[in-house]
Amino acid sequence: MAASELVELAVTYQDIAAAAKRLEGIAYKTPVLTSSQADHHADASVFFKCENFQRVGAFKFRGAYNAISCLSEEQKQQGVVAFSSGNHAQGMALAARMLGVHATIVMPSNAPAMKLAATREYGAEIILYDREREDREVIAAQLSAERGCAVIPAYDHADVIAGQGTAAKELFDAVGPLDYLFVCTGGGGLLSGCAIAAAQLSPGCIVIGVEPEAGNDAQQSLRTGNIVHIPVPDTIADGAQTQHVGKLVLPILQAYVKDIVTVSDDQLRTQMRFFAERMKIVVEPAGCLAAAAVMHRVLPFAGEKVGVIVSGGNVDMELFARSIAAAKPFF
Ligand SMILES: *Cc1c(COP(=O)(O)O)cnc(C)c1O
Repeated sequence: MAASELVELAVTYQDIAAAAKRLEGIAYKTPVLTSSQADHHADASVFFKCENFQRVGAFKFRGAYNAISCLSEEQKQQGVVAFSSGNHAQGMALAARMLGVHATIVMPSNAPAMKLAATREYGAEIILYDREREDREVIAAQLSAERGCAVIPAYDHADVIAGQGTAAKELFDAVGPLDYLFVCTGGGGLLSGCAIAAAQLSPGCIVIGVEPEAGNDAQQSLRTGNIVHIPVPDTIADGAQTQHVGKLVLPILQAYVKDIVTVSDDQLRTQMRFFAERMKIVVEPAGCLAAAAVMHRVLPFAGEKVGVIVSGGNVDMELFARSIAAAKPFF
């Protein structure tokens, strides 16, 4: 835990507080839901911070809006570029439009039609690339060189991490200190931002990251202290199919995150069904990660006060229907 004193971290709590000011009246203050059924299964008092109700249906709007807001006027005039097939694309497109900034999003040509359409509807220019033959980071770097626009990555960026951390800040502001906070992790932007908020607003709160069993790179990275790269994990949690955590992210995890646990796709399906059936909410597979870990009691937290970040709700309805039909219910 002394790592925070030894290494200068890219993001501080002050950055999160400043991001919260920028997002005031812009991002939704998403609801915190509770459920006696969930408490029963978890054997704890569980508070769900529901970012599936955020603008664009996921927390990504927070980091995107904060990062674009932090650019200079000159940079804003040059526009921004991002590469993403998922929620970061939509978050960037909407945030850029709200701030009057031109956004170019590099997306795979085989991205779901729904996601391409949503990103285009928010007014972004879309550049398609061939996932098999082209490297999106190279394309984004070229665009940035040609047009002078800033590249805003999905997680490895200080202003993005600070924006994502406002989700946990709002949770603590709403329910007070917690014993545990569970947060899903892909590249670790959400987890690292939320962990910084927890350290400040609820000292002693144990922060746990949750990732898909098929891709436990963040777990390996935290446990070994080196960024571990893995092949694209085979999981229904498409929001967490990243191959490695960010360079800015790992030192923050080392300073503030106790451990990272994993859940299986079957557990995610069960959780999706629970959310739909009992809590009447639509949550995408990655959004179920933290809740699934808690409701399958991966750690002994009986009787404790436990926070869960529900990260997003953008799921193809065919996949949703298949997943909940195949899900084993709790007990
Ligand atoms: C992006 C995303 C994640 C993973 O977030 P990171 O900041 O990359 O760890 C999890 N869930 C959803 C819904 C997402 O869109």
